[in-house]
Amino acid sequence: MARDHVVGVDLGGTNIKVGVVTTAGDVVSSLSVPTEGQGGPDHVIDRMVAGALEVIRASGLSKDRILAVGIGAPGSMSHKQGIIISPPNLPGWTNVPIRDKVAAGTGLPTNLENDANAAAYGEFWAGGGRGTNDMVLFTLGTGIGGGIIIDGRLVRGFFDNGAELGHMIVQPGGRLCGCGQHGCIEAYASAHFTAVRAVEAIKNGEKSSLKALLDQGLPVETPHVLEAANAGDPLAARIWDETCRLLAVACVNMQHFSNPQKILLGGGMIGAGKYLLEPIRKYFLDFTWKAAKDYPLIDFATLGNDAGFIGAAGLALTEFGDGKARTRS
Ligand SMILES: [Zn+2]
Repeated sequence: MARDHVVGVDLGGTNIKVGVVTTAGDVVSSLSVPTEGQGGPDHVIDRMVAGALEVIRASGLSKDRILAVGIGAPGSMSHKQGIIISPPNLPGWTNVPIRDKVAAGTGLPTNLENDANAAAYGEFWAGGGRGTNDMVLFTLGTGIGGGIIIDGRLVRGFFDNGAELGHMIVQPGGRLCGCGQHGCIEAYASAHFTAVRAVEAIKNGEKSSLKALLDQGLPVETPHVLEAANAGDPLAARIWDETCRLLAVACVNMQHFSNPQKILLGGGMIGAGKYLLEPIRKYFLDFTWKAAKDYPLIDFATLGNDAGFIGAAGLALTEFGDGKARTRS
C-alpha cells in the first residue's frame, strides 16, 4: 500500500490542531484538542501523539498509508535537531526534543518546523498561494509572523529562524518591540500594538471616542480602533492608517527581497477585510518603485487556522516524500 498521506500537527499555546492530509494537500480528517500546556512538555507531547493516532483512525486509513508526521511549533527551534528551544507561549519548555519524542510515540518519521513557516507553506501548497512559485505570508495577529517561499522552497535560514518578518525594522530608533529591538513592524502594526498606540495617544491627552471605553475600565482592542476610525474618529483613523501604511512598507521590502508573485495576509486582523487590504494596496503603489511594474498581488490567505497543520504536513512530505509537495500547481 502506498504511503500517500501525511499527518500535520499544529502546536499552539491553547489548542493542538491535527489533520490527515493527502499528498495533493487535501484534508481527509482533522481535530483540535486543548494543549493543556500547564501539564508540561511530556503531557503535551502525549496529547500530540494521541491526537495524531486519533486523527488517523478518524480518516479510516490504515497506518501503513501514512508517510510521516509534520509538526509546526511556536518560538525559536532547531529544525535540524528537532528541538524546541524556548517558545514564549509554552513556559517551561526549554530544549525539548519534541521531534524524536513524537516519532517514538507515533512510530512514524517526524519533521519539526516553526509554526509561522508551516502556515506559509500551507498557503503556498494548498491555499491562497497555490500555483505560485514565490510567495510571502504575513500573519497579522497579536504579534506578526511570516514565512517566505522562494522557488518552491521554504526559507529556513542557517539557524532555522528565517522569515521572522514581524521583526523587520520599519522605523529605526522607533518603538520598543517585545523582541528587544526598536522599530519592528510588530511594535506598530500587530493587533496588540495598534490598540496600544491608540491608548497611548489618548493617555497623552488626544481626544477620541475610544476614551469612553478607558473611562469605564474596559480594554481598547484593535476592532474598536477600526470601528471608531470608520465612524470618523480622527485619532483612531490616524492609528489605523499608520498600521496599514507600515504594513505596506513591509510589503515593499519583501517585494525587493524575493520578488514574490503574491504577498498573502493571514491572521485575526484580516477580519478587517477591505479596510485593511485596500489601504495596504494603495500605499504599496505609492511607495514602491516605478522602474519595473513587477508588483506582487497582495491578497488574503485562505486556509485560516488550518494553514499550520496543512503546511506542517506538506513540509513533512518534502522531507520524507519524493518532492511532490514542491511541484503542485
Ligand atoms: Zn521585534
